Amino acid sequence: MLQLQNLINGQLVPPVAGHYLPLLEPATGQPFGQVPDSDAADVDAAVRAAEAALPAWRAAPAEERGRKLVRLAELIEQHLESLARAESQDNGKPLSLARSLDIPRAASNFAFFGTAAGHFATEAHVQEGVAVNYTVRHPLGVVACISPWNLPLYLFTWKIAPALAVGCCVVAKPSEVTPYTAFLLSELAQQAGLPPGVLNIVHGTGPGVGQALVEHPGIRAISFTGGTKTGEQIARSAAPRFKKLSLELGGKNPNLIFADCDLATAVQTSLRSSFANQGQICLCGSRILVERRIYEQFKTAFLAQVRALTVGDPLDETTRQGALVSEVHLQKVLSYIELAHQEGGRLLTGGHRVLLPGRCAGGYFLEPTVFENLGPACRVNQEEIFGPVVTLMPFDTEEEAVRWANGTEYGLSATLWTRDVTRAHRVAQQLHAGVVWVNTWLHRDLRTPFGGMKNSGVGREGGLEALRFFTEAQNVCIKL
Ligand code: NDP
Repeated sequence: MLQLQNLINGQLVPPVAGHYLPLLEPATGQPFGQVPDSDAADVDAAVRAAEAALPAWRAAPAEERGRKLVRLAELIEQHLESLARAESQDNGKPLSLARSLDIPRAASNFAFFGTAAGHFATEAHVQEGVAVNYTVRHPLGVVACISPWNLPLYLFTWKIAPALAVGCCVVAKPSEVTPYTAFLLSELAQQAGLPPGVLNIVHGTGPGVGQALVEHPGIRAISFTGGTKTGEQIARSAAPRFKKLSLELGGKNPNLIFADCDLATAVQTSLRSSFANQGQICLCGSRILVERRIYEQFKTAFLAQVRALTVGDPLDETTRQGALVSEVHLQKVLSYIELAHQEGGRLLTGGHRVLLPGRCAGGYFLEPTVFENLGPACRVNQEEIFGPVVTLMPFDTEEEAVRWANGTEYGLSATLWTRDVTRAHRVAQQLHAGVVWVNTWLHRDLRTPFGGMKNSGVGREGGLEALRFFTEAQNVCIKL
């Protein structure tokens, strides 16, 4: 059976205490491997290895560091199919999605930040005849990158790549629910010639490894993506140690559909933004607000497409909806479906666990589910469900749509459908969301800042923001 190992000081090693956790395939509910259940001793060994590697890595020319990252991007591209299969196997997502989205983006992360390292400039401020000030951005040192299970390799590399590019050494922890591609990345990092200790990957649970990393005195910064509650706990642990934090947290994203939109495209894209990866993308829209004049028309077209989504074996090329990530998560999502009924919601489609025959008989499958008749303040429209469950709500005015869209504790992303360019600008700027898409969804330019407002996070990732996050600025003032 497959047994994953930690990457510490350039070597694949077992956890110090020798403990492992089962690795389950969400599509079957069956174990297919074991992942290290590491602890503080493994974290300490990884931090020491990173500290030892730091002087040479931070002193290396940016171009040299960048070349290693670009090499890693090429290796990911060469191993696209095996990585996509691994991600589909431990996450439950359709193989076609892993192949077209997750793995190519992981390669783009290394290619983008590998080349960006060579273009990273700092500022100079000239006080005429008095002084010249220039800013030096030093790599912070050894940093922690902690990522969730929903886009395993994509989010893992999104954090690691900028840290390595600016000269930091990394101790990274993937979710122990979906660690397979991070393990395969360990092997590719060895092949790419990353010096030992520059990238360390420690597998294990949040309480066992994540917390030990956050508390370790050798860690200077934490880049975390995950749930808002976990983010709170990390912020509490990191604050007395003055660690720099980037927190990318949960969302309850609205999708605003105005009557003047291109309806066919709005319906088609809303289907994706609701149910891609079984709704387990932090940027999925789970509250669809539709202008009353086209509400029935939108609903009819949307439901027809939802009912046509095929739930099936993620390895089957025709599958559009795979399995949810775990039994625990499936039960959480089902509990919100029950809550939607209790809150007076009208079920329009879905709502039940799907039992498939054969290989997938024990898998965690759920019908794509749509409710209406739920008010903006009810729990189902306030709390993050993170599954294939969306609500439809008619609105009468632009003011009402914006108020409802902004009326949650979250502010990660929003999508807006209209042909009126003035309205597009006006509404976009009123939305409390770190990312606003107009007439599109999930369109990403890696140069742009990314992150949430309100309880969806602090700090920004992407582009220069990410490179700056992993540095500390120093001003040098020279008298003229
Ligand atoms: P969690 O917050 O449960 O876990 C995220 C990571 O943190 C995992 O690796 C987890 O380990 C680890 N962890 C848990 N407890 C601690 C701790 N005390 N200290 C340090 N690390 C810890 O999130 P999920 O994995 O359930 O992911 C889903 C969530 O992620 C959703 O809320 C989603 O919105 C959010 N997300 C946000 C994104 C954004 O860009 N804003 C993007 C993608 C997801 P373990 O797996 O062992 O629990």
